[in-house]
Amino acid sequence: MNDSRVSDLFEFLRFPSVSTQSEHIVDMIACAEWLKNKFVNLGFQADVRQTGGHPAVVARTPHDPARPTVLIYGHYDVQPPEPLGEWKTPPFEPTIRDGRIYARGSTDNKGQILAHILGLGELLAANGALPANLVFLVEGEEEIGSDNLAGFLEEHRAELDCDVIVISDTGMAAHGYPTLTFSLRGIAALEFNVHGPTQDLHSGVFGGAVMNPATAAARLIASLHDEDGRVAIEGFYNDVRPMFDWEREAAAALPITDSDVCTLAGVSELAGEPGFTAIERVGARPTAEVNGMGGGYQGEGTKTVLPREAFAKLTFRLVPNQRPEDILRLVEAHLYARCPRGVRLEILPGHCGEPYYADPNSLYGRAALRALERVFGRKPALMREGGSIPIVTTFKKVLGADSLLLALASPDCYAHSPNENFPLENFFAGIRLSQAVIEEIGRLN
Ligand SMILES: [Zn+2]
Repeated sequence: MNDSRVSDLFEFLRFPSVSTQSEHIVDMIACAEWLKNKFVNLGFQADVRQTGGHPAVVARTPHDPARPTVLIYGHYDVQPPEPLGEWKTPPFEPTIRDGRIYARGSTDNKGQILAHILGLGELLAANGALPANLVFLVEGEEEIGSDNLAGFLEEHRAELDCDVIVISDTGMAAHGYPTLTFSLRGIAALEFNVHGPTQDLHSGVFGGAVMNPATAAARLIASLHDEDGRVAIEGFYNDVRPMFDWEREAAAALPITDSDVCTLAGVSELAGEPGFTAIERVGARPTAEVNGMGGGYQGEGTKTVLPREAFAKLTFRLVPNQRPEDILRLVEAHLYARCPRGVRLEILPGHCGEPYYADPNSLYGRAALRALERVFGRKPALMREGGSIPIVTTFKKVLGADSLLLALASPDCYAHSPNENFPLENFFAGIRLSQAVIEEIGRLN
């Protein structure tokens, strides 16, 4: 393919910038340097910054105080390519097949961030200036938890100050379907242990006279939901902001039906809170999930034992305006109140993350929607994702700015898997999208 933009992407993809493997430290640095040079060649001011971990690349245009400032975030690090044998072509030798670029990092996240860089470089070259101030932040630790990002943002808060953030690292609702993700769920995690007798007991000698910790744990787990599938913890739904009518309409308009979800999950029937579709339950309603449970004999055959302890690992996915710390308190009170007599309950609170919500009807949200519609020629889907993207809440906390999550990845992009790919049409759409979104935001002035 004789397009310099595609050859730029090929060069970018050839760096095995695997952040989790120390043998690739040199590749990480080389990749960051390559990016910096790309920025400079396109007319941006850019440098490679130390972070305490892998370096970040920061680039910008001259600051005009009369214009809004947009921070564009992405990452140049990639997941390990293993298992290598399952790739049809080598992961760091980009190959085009059927209109898609196959390479590790193509869809997560090199294809998208380079599309933004090239698109805005073209716009800058064509006009000499841009309708908004730009700050690019391309980090090298997204795939290993962005541990140094919050500190980096705090330290460079003044130069990273912005009005809004643009991120293309989410998935489209369907192939070719423009999608704005405007909400992410939060999370609260805890573990509990139920302690019974000082050691495992003979179930014939003691069974019936001593409370079984596994039975107690099962009762506690069962108490988390009512018969219909609603979470049965007192006060759990108190702070949940009900969906607006337009949100329910947007969810209904998504090209994903309950039966699609059923097929994807590989189950014969869906379950969950009554009165909501699967996509609403996942994106806009809070949940209580058992992620693991255990206790007692796990080996082959039968062992007539009354175990000395049992455990469960729970997470709660949360929606605005629930607060993780409040939910943990409610859950603890619920479990302590229901713990059967004769055993001792121990609760270990785990990690927390706030839910995220940015009104898509805000000025910036509407600008993003207009840009998506201009580029894709159809009305964008509005998605509330069930998962969490911690960097988005970090940005909100440290920089006080909302993120516009403009999806460019296809559902069958195989991010993190063998044969990761990025459709060329999404790459070119990303180039046009970065230009359109900056033009639309500039027009708000
Ligand atoms: Zn990833």
